[in-house]
Amino acid sequence: MNDNNESKMSDNIKYDVLIVGGGVVGTALLYTLSKYTDIEKICLIEKYNDFGLVNSDSNKNSQTLHFGDIETNYSFEKAQSVKTMADMVMNYLEKEKLYANENNLFSKYSKMVLAVGKDQSDELSKRFSTFTKLFPHLRLIGRDEIGKLEPRVVEGRKPDEEILALVTDDGYSVDYNMLCHSFVNNAKKEKPGLTIMLDTRLLKIVKNSDSFTVKTNIGEIEASTVVIAAGGHSLMIAKSLGYGRNLSVLSMAGSFYTAPKVLNGKVYTIQVAKLPFAAIHGDPEVHNANITRFGPTAKPIFQLERHNMSTFTEYWKTFGFGLSPIISLFKIMFDKVLLRYVALNFLYDLPFIGKRLFIRQIMMIVPGIKMSEIKFAKGIGGTRPQIVNNTTRTLEMGEAKLSGDKIIFNITPSPGASTCLGNAYSDASKIVEFLDNKYKFRKEAFEKDLM
Ligand SMILES: Cc1cc2nc3c(=O)[nH]c(=O)nc-3n(C[C@H](O)[C@H](O)[C@H](O)COP(=O)(O)OP(=O)(O)OC[C@H]3O[C@@H](n4cnc5c(N)ncnc54)[C@H](O)[C@@H]3O)c2cc1C
Repeated sequence: MNDNNESKMSDNIKYDVLIVGGGVVGTALLYTLSKYTDIEKICLIEKYNDFGLVNSDSNKNSQTLHFGDIETNYSFEKAQSVKTMADMVMNYLEKEKLYANENNLFSKYSKMVLAVGKDQSDELSKRFSTFTKLFPHLRLIGRDEIGKLEPRVVEGRKPDEEILALVTDDGYSVDYNMLCHSFVNNAKKEKPGLTIMLDTRLLKIVKNSDSFTVKTNIGEIEASTVVIAAGGHSLMIAKSLGYGRNLSVLSMAGSFYTAPKVLNGKVYTIQVAKLPFAAIHGDPEVHNANITRFGPTAKPIFQLERHNMSTFTEYWKTFGFGLSPIISLFKIMFDKVLLRYVALNFLYDLPFIGKRLFIRQIMMIVPGIKMSEIKFAKGIGGTRPQIVNNTTRTLEMGEAKLSGDKIIFNITPSPGASTCLGNAYSDASKIVEFLDNKYKFRKEAFEKDLM
């Protein structure tokens, strides 16, 4: 235990709010509570020695701020809701750049979604007519303009192959790890008395009559309300208190391939309708436009954290024991589209054969890409805790939130980083209610600053 944590433990405070998890979701909430509420006794614990080292690490995700404009698997309503929340992050980033000279949080590139062939082009044109109301900056462009923006998308493509794209200049690549640090630093400026404990792991949580006792590796913490922002682990902790018993997690690891700069901006492909994972895309690395990343792939693993075997047992606790989750898994996996997709995605991670298969995916974006240009990005890519609903036996899209008696659990597959401030807004409202409205959430100020 470090001396700092020891002294914080010996204070014996009962916190108003305890946040568990120092990824982008937990730190966004820390920032929101510190800046926009008068709650004083706030504590955040994180099991690792720094913030944002799991899925919020820039090496673990696709670094995209998703608005719903080029994500063709989002319905209009879903895009509307994601856009509101992504706008908050965008406004935060732009303000930090302008007023705090924070230049390392994000880079801006053009972004497009590319339709290949007649069917996809028809679908994209239809989408454009509806989505332009929500995203007035979107433009529908044909081969010539695509070629001017992204020459390698057109080079080597058959002349009679129809291509069409929706494009915008507002492509944000975000370093979500740095965003965690920015949230924490700004939170500390607002409330210097905040308690933040790194290297502090929740081991067990117990509900008392009017508080929670959280047992950690360094002692016990008491809090009136708790928000669990621990990624896939949130469901495991929820289950330990009797919540979310009808849910399981399918942990979908995503890998990437890299190439020297072949794209100027982000290029997405059209989403396969049934899949809750982002379609393959090519993106410039957030801090280095000379590297293009392609991915992510999606294969199930039995760990809650990628490249961390110690989360194997935790995975099974989260998945749940018994027949029901297994039946759900079989039902989900034996869907023809998903089964084929997952089988292929297993192969993409294999040496030699993986590259030879994945290049076909990249060729949908860059037809003339050469084998010598791409390489598997070893150690890069996290894992998405996709929710399996054991009542409906379906795989659910996007993030999940379980709200209990003075406790909230956030489970956050993609686009959980893009929606972190929207999530914080709803959690902050709920916490103030949990605390019998003794404190005030200055929603108007939040909205004025970030919406
Ligand atoms: C391949 C891939 C690509 C993605 N691409 C995008 C994208 O482009 N855009 C986007 O918006 N989203 C993307 N996502 C999703 C995004 O990365 C996550 O939604 C987001 O990072 C979740 O943040 P979080 O804070 O909930 O989780 P995390 O960042 O995983 O943080 C959870 C924290 O909780 C801590 N914790 C866990 N258990 C305990 C415990 N017992 N005690 C104390 N602390 C604990 C962990 O150490 C960790 O720091 C992607 C994810 C993957 C895997």
